[in-house]
Amino acid sequence: MDENVTTAVLEEWVRTFATLIEQNRDYLTELDAAIGDADHGSNMDRGMKAAVAALDDAALTTAGALFTKVGMTLVSTVGGASGPLFGTFFLRMGASFGDSDTASPRDFAAALRAGLGGVVARGKAEPGDKTMYDALAPAVDALDLALEAQSQLATGLKAARDAAATGRDATTPMLARKGRASYLGERSVGHQDPGATTVALLLEAATESSF
Ligand code: ADP
Ligand code: MG
Repeated sequence: MDENVTTAVLEEWVRTFATLIEQNRDYLTELDAAIGDADHGSNMDRGMKAAVAALDDAALTTAGALFTKVGMTLVSTVGGASGPLFGTFFLRMGASFGDSDTASPRDFAAALRAGLGGVVARGKAEPGDKTMYDALAPAVDALDLALEAQSQLATGLKAARDAAATGRDATTPMLARKGRASYLGERSVGHQDPGATTVALLLEAATESSF
């Protein structure tokens, strides 16, 4: 479990996430049509396509530089709540890695937790508010638990993916208390949160990458 995580595999994760977002763009937008303004899929797809283009242009050799580039690109290309929120998530991951040349599984888990902290700092979401937080926080916890139990990173990421999917599903009965969906009050109940769905795709992408 002390095997280092290479920048190449982290980039593969980002690119796989972009592909999953492209494949699920219309689905994410449908989810947002029910409790928002029908732009979440197109927002994320625009942002991740720009992020991939930025990675095509620049050979980034450290995890810190990679995630900082992705985060800055999302913040600058995506309007709405998700640009700043996912942008801050990646920026905080980048800051957590810093300019170190190597990243251990625990460094990765710490970066993910720093990203979660950025989402909270930015959006003030609390558990049960029906946001991306409700998928991300359980995923971060699951990865930490798995690594504490001496699991391989790939095994921990599978646990994180499962926790994110469970957290995503749990948003359906919730009443939205943050973001656009909160304007609907009781009418937000019974719909899956788009941002939490995107987080589940982010963790799915991790399990499809060569960690
Ligand atoms: P907008 O709501 O501006 O149209 P998007 O549709 O792209 O932006 O993203 C909506 C998603 O953003 C929601 O499904 C939710 O998961 C997430 N979100 C909104 N507000 C917050 C917040 N304050 N904290 C965390 N996540 C939030
Ligand atoms: Mg929207």
